[in-house]
Amino acid sequence: MADDITRIVIVGGGSAGWLTAGVIAAEHAAGSKVSVTVLESPDVPTVGVGEGTWPTMRDTLRRIGVSESDFIRECDATFKQGSRFIGWGSRAGRDAYMHPFVLPQGFLDTNLIAGWLQMPHVPYAELVSFQPHLCEAGRGPKQFATPEYAAVANYAYHLDAGKFGQFLRRHCVERLGVRHVADHMVSVNARADGDIASLQTRERGALEGDLFVDCTGERSLLLGRHFGVGHVDVRSVLFNDRALAVQVPYPAPDTPIACQTVSTAQRSGWIWDIGLSARRGVGHVYSSSHISDAEAEADLFKYIEGSAGASAKDLGAPMRLAFDPGYRRQSWHRNCVAIGMSAGFVEPLEASSLALVELGATALAEQLPATRQHMEQVAQRYNEAFAYRWERVVDFLKLHYVLSRRDDSDYWREHRLTASVPDSLRELLQMWQYRPPSRYDLTRVDEVFPSASYHYILYGMGFVPEPRAARASDDLRRASDFFREAADLTRQMLPALPAHRALIEHIHTRGLSKI
Ligand SMILES: Cc1cc2nc3c(=O)[nH]c(=O)nc-3n(C[C@H](O)[C@H](O)[C@H](O)COP(=O)(O)OP(=O)(O)OC[C@H]3O[C@@H](n4cnc5c(N)ncnc54)[C@H](O)[C@@H]3O)c2cc1C
Repeated sequence: MADDITRIVIVGGGSAGWLTAGVIAAEHAAGSKVSVTVLESPDVPTVGVGEGTWPTMRDTLRRIGVSESDFIRECDATFKQGSRFIGWGSRAGRDAYMHPFVLPQGFLDTNLIAGWLQMPHVPYAELVSFQPHLCEAGRGPKQFATPEYAAVANYAYHLDAGKFGQFLRRHCVERLGVRHVADHMVSVNARADGDIASLQTRERGALEGDLFVDCTGERSLLLGRHFGVGHVDVRSVLFNDRALAVQVPYPAPDTPIACQTVSTAQRSGWIWDIGLSARRGVGHVYSSSHISDAEAEADLFKYIEGSAGASAKDLGAPMRLAFDPGYRRQSWHRNCVAIGMSAGFVEPLEASSLALVELGATALAEQLPATRQHMEQVAQRYNEAFAYRWERVVDFLKLHYVLSRRDDSDYWREHRLTASVPDSLRELLQMWQYRPPSRYDLTRVDEVFPSASYHYILYGMGFVPEPRAARASDDLRRASDFFREAADLTRQMLPALPAHRALIEHIHTRGLSKI
């Protein structure tokens, strides 16, 4: 039939474009009429950053048929077991807490908070989970013999963004039958009804399709420029709009590799520090309304010199990035869906961007409308789901700032002003004064951040609730059993898991067994 949706054209060959291509092609493989084409400009580079992921990436890579060993070797990837936040609570920089990926021990069985309040000197995550102790000791999340994608401790990855795009492109083209067109889109050809008919390329004429996926990054060439779908600006909530990124060599080949993203708060932003197999990726995200580019660069190099002995003069000029924190009012308009930075980008804290790409690509692949008549309904649901997700991402990221007690700059003080806090987050904070975050607050199946993540940030930042008294004694007894369980697991796992670098080197030389 003329209005069947079979030709999917993705414009953009960054992480978003190739992940989306892989997910759709894998879902609609053998015997399907669906074809996937990626149009990628040889002139426009990818954003070149995006090294931290969320544990969902394991499932996405497995699902599209990637070998985990190949991915780790070819993308300089390492394992990530969470994020460590330094200096977010107070300026002294002595305060640090972790947001690990494993659930707190007993999380689904009891209220652990009353028990934790009895021991305020022990950081929440260290009491309820073995994972911060694994990271502290530099252990990897699995053994040499653990098969691909299986875990002893839940994990995500750190990866080289440039290498990741090339790796996915090869995999999609060679294994999944995706067509790659290296050409520059110069304009959009519309049909009489307003849908996109084709993309005009510089060398190869018009590229026709039934459904177009905008993965053109911040430019948002289809959804933003062509269709004019508006941008929801969240700068008044999350102030960061600039970043500087550098690649830092390890001082020696056997330098330990961190198994967590280290996020260190600065006077007007924060610095990410990510350990890959061949180098570190370090960047400063900051607010241009609060600090100059030169000051931000000086702070970045001061951090690097203090953290690894690398000298600023050996590193060269940092990559400079500017972004408008926010997201498109709708991600899907007519026969066009935006995925990746074309749909929105808030800031890199907690690495939600690629997780949203995975959610978008999966939702699109699984709900791909069969005909144009089905599209409006699917689009409406998709837009509703993503409007909700963007709001939750904004709330969750703001939580990291609003609980800070730092008083050393306008940046931190303004983050606490009532006017900068979304109503939705303010209401949740009021409720969490009396009960911990739970499934009643986050009701969707595919929440970007589960309620356990809110626990780790809230109590890591030192939020002190007033738990209800009635069940407190019962909760206390059960909680202390779970704290003991977490400590026992720590004792068992520490000697049983290899050092992170040793695990990565084992994968480079021997690989992991397949499941
Ligand atoms: C400072 C910073 C740090 C970040 N850190 C993280 C992180 O740790 N974790 C995370 O999940 N995310 C992070 N992100 C976001 C992450 O980088 C992106 O989500 C991810 O790389 C996907 O980008 P993209 O594919 O949407 O866009 P891009 O990588 O910008 O790709 C755009 C593509 O569109 C193509 N294109 C553009 N114009 C045309 C045209 N006219 N014709 C044809 N093709 C065209 C380009 O050639 C390119 O291939 C970060 C972002 C920034 C700015």
